Amino acid sequence: MDYDILIIGAGPIGLACGIEAKAKGLSYVIVEKGCLVNSLYNYPQNMTFFSTSERLEIGNIPFISNSLKPTRSEALEYYRRVALYFNLNVRLFEEVLSLEGSEGNFEIKTSKSSYKAKNVIVSTGFYDIPNLMNVKGENLPKVFHYYKDPSYFAMQKVLVIGASNSSVDAALECYRKGAEVTMVVRKGEISDRVKYWVKPDIENRIKEGSIKAYFHSQIKEITANTVLLNTPNGNIEIENDFVLALTGYQPNFSFLELLGIQLKGENKYPDHDPETMEANRKGVYLAGVVCGGMDTHLWFIENSRIHAEVIISHIAENVTTS
Ligand code: FAD
Repeated sequence: MDYDILIIGAGPIGLACGIEAKAKGLSYVIVEKGCLVNSLYNYPQNMTFFSTSERLEIGNIPFISNSLKPTRSEALEYYRRVALYFNLNVRLFEEVLSLEGSEGNFEIKTSKSSYKAKNVIVSTGFYDIPNLMNVKGENLPKVFHYYKDPSYFAMQKVLVIGASNSSVDAALECYRKGAEVTMVVRKGEISDRVKYWVKPDIENRIKEGSIKAYFHSQIKEITANTVLLNTPNGNIEIENDFVLALTGYQPNFSFLELLGIQLKGENKYPDHDPETMEANRKGVYLAGVVCGGMDTHLWFIENSRIHAEVIISHIAENVTTS
């Protein structure tokens, strides 16, 4: 079948694009390499969103959560119900591998099949590739770039790298499940971006010494039983069982380049017209957090769900005028 639109990624924004396409009577398919809302599925199990639930809504479907800010499991349930409610045309566990052709006549190859589409929306997020520290020992099995569940780390010496929301949540949870937690922070303090109701908690745990923190410090080397830190007082070696390297994530830039999207400047912003979200390759659109390049704090669900309406209106205009 020849679709008006092929959407890459069934995250919240890819789903929002599918809903808009359906509302405008355009044919579409959403192709997702993992499960539905794959990134959210891979978030820490006990994670709470910083947004209130109504700001995460798509397709005008109310998001009811127990507290003001929903949890990961409530969000998984919400987006699943929304996808079913709109009977969205989603293909799961199917990775998009290549894009040939041009506007009006694209051919897309996936791990399971191939498709033809007039337009392509790239809503691939930024959660698939962790920012590496590039230190010796980073590839040891005790080093994790994704954090799931604190119970695993009970009675273990855990080093948490970074001072962002993910690092702080992990440090507090592991500490409360009986791990001996040490944080290594490149800057001089806990980030101002940390959720305002969590920041005092971590700062007080550090102040009272329950969680040890090395500020202005970096990790130099990881071995099976230790980590070597570079601190303002010189290099120190501490005993260690696990390292949680929660140093952020980045979009899959080689995939974007493979799609013919140019990356601009130091932050590798994928080239697109902010008015229409159309990329430098005609007929290819960018939606959601992928638009920020390395600047992964620029876009989130709250402020990027609008991309769906902008893109589909532009495509609908072209489809009716062509
Ligand atoms: P994603 O949800 O990342 O979806 C992209 C999808 O594309 C993924 O499912 C991926 O598997 C798929 N994909 C990638 N490559 C391919 C391919 N080649 N073929 C097929 N499929 C592919 N935002 C908020 O607004 N509020 C919050 O409170 C909030 N909290 C956050 C907490 C954490 C821990 C993180 C990491 C992010 C948070 N964000 C929050 C940001 C935002 O929620 C996420 O980044 C959100 O998932 C963005 O939606 P998206 O649809 O753009 O991308």
